[in-house]
Amino acid sequence: VLADLGSKLSQTLKKITSASKIDDVFLTEVLNEITMALLSADVKFEHVARLTTSVRTQVTLFMKKEGKYTNMKKIIRQTVVEELTNILNTEKTPYEFKRGKSQVVMFVGLQGAGKTTTTTKFAYHYIRKGWKVALVCCDTWRAGAFDQLQQNAAKIRCAFYGNPKEKNPVTIASEGVEIFKQEKYEIIIVDTSGRHMQEDKLFEEMKEINEAIDPEENVFVMDGSIGQACYDQALAFRSAVNVGSVIITKLDGHAKGGGALSAVAATDSPIIFLGVGETFDDLEPFEPKSFIKRLLGLGDISSLFKTVSDAIPKEKQTELAKTLKEGKFTLRNMKDQFQSVLNMGSLGTVMSMIPGMNSNMIPKGKEKEASARIKKFLYMMDSMTEAELDSLKPLNPSRIRRIARGSGTSISEVSQLIEEYKRFSKMVGKMSNMQDPKAMAEMQR
Ligand code: GDP
Ligand code: MG
Repeated sequence: VLADLGSKLSQTLKKITSASKIDDVFLTEVLNEITMALLSADVKFEHVARLTTSVRTQVTLFMKKEGKYTNMKKIIRQTVVEELTNILNTEKTPYEFKRGKSQVVMFVGLQGAGKTTTTTKFAYHYIRKGWKVALVCCDTWRAGAFDQLQQNAAKIRCAFYGNPKEKNPVTIASEGVEIFKQEKYEIIIVDTSGRHMQEDKLFEEMKEINEAIDPEENVFVMDGSIGQACYDQALAFRSAVNVGSVIITKLDGHAKGGGALSAVAATDSPIIFLGVGETFDDLEPFEPKSFIKRLLGLGDISSLFKTVSDAIPKEKQTELAKTLKEGKFTLRNMKDQFQSVLNMGSLGTVMSMIPGMNSNMIPKGKEKEASARIKKFLYMMDSMTEAELDSLKPLNPSRIRRIARGSGTSISEVSQLIEEYKRFSKMVGKMSNMQDPKAMAEMQR
């Protein structure tokens, strides 16, 4: 089994960071490592060649200017990030929905990839933005497929069509699409079956449905945790139907995600969303640069801000932005942060976006414990006075004792919270220094 692309690349980058000197031999060595890692993930050779050429060009330019190899690490890292981002920035753009028009999207992918879950997340995403959305279930293969999507649709209050008595998926798809077009639904999402064993049959059926309903867009859903198999799978789907865009699922917890590069390389299609959990709002809009930085373990502030700002009420956002800019961070700020982290659901994802931390810090299965810990912290902060929450000064022992008593916790637990707070505020101080104006602007929008 091959190691994941992301961990291989981040290992190489770490090697660059810790190198005592960067010379031609070293450069050749790291470029070879990167080349091997990318090729073994089936990233196209032309992309790989462009990356290595580009790094060499940047290094040469830099040498001409500076005459020595110092400060070179940053240039190499930046160029690698840029070039990997370029691979994900396909020329093809995803379909854009138009208001007041019926548009059909068909979801394809192997069984278990997360299609049904993702159709629901996708529907929910647009429903929340005020679109008129409908779901059609034409998986006649898996027992329970009809119930699964019907129940999902009910949970998000989405229109639904399916027919458990009909065995022909083409008939169901055509009927459903017809009905919803007449009822002037704007986004009609068709969930198909994906079966493992009889692949030929899967592709045949998919083609037939595709011809019958002629969708505006085919979305290929791929399990991001399958690693090496990504390329062939994506290629097979692409040659059967015209894949327009890609959604990679299961990138929560121990996200690998190197397969994303392969999937894009195989389909020449952009990734539009990432699935990051099992609940219906665990769908993240895809941003190539953030994704690459996270893949490489470089952390990504702008994406953290975006996630945080999505979860924090508008009126609190400017407050937080100001706090971060000033590098001032109160217990109240931390309380808001913790609250929104809990609201966001998947702790691992949030952690992986904080520089210097990664999703491994919360091992799989430990997320519940981490949530419980945060909840406990919140109880303690609920027992604090307004002045304590807003103060930038450390709390004295008698206050700590009172807070412990008030929240039913111990003095050592409250002390832990204070330690955690100190660590956070130090980090915020650092963040405010390296803040890029674009991320701030985005957040304040
Ligand atoms: P389908 O066979 O392609 O329709 O796949 P399903 O939508 O039924 O999903 C298969 C399993 O994967 C279910 O248990 C889902 O809850 C799970 N799943 C789907 N998307 C995600 C995701 O983004 N993260 C996680 N952790 N699980 C997911
Ligand atoms: Mg399904």
